Amino acid sequence: MSTTTANETVHDRIAVAKETMTLGQMAAVTAFAAAIAFALIFVQEPLVHDSMHNFRHAAGITCH
Ligand SMILES: [Zn+2]
Repeated sequence: MSTTTANETVHDRIAVAKETMTLGQMAAVTAFAAAIAFALIFVQEPLVHDSMHNFRHAAGITCH
């Protein structure tokens, strides 16, 4: 019984948080998420390039 009450309380808090989030906060969160996504792609791209580069050499293809 107490567990159900706790879950409902958390659910209500999340619902209130969504309703009280302003348009500016939503824009900030969206920009933050986009920045993180861009950073992850920017960091991972060289790693992907290197792995493909090593794969080409392993396959006997010279590229330089
Ligand atoms: Zn190479």
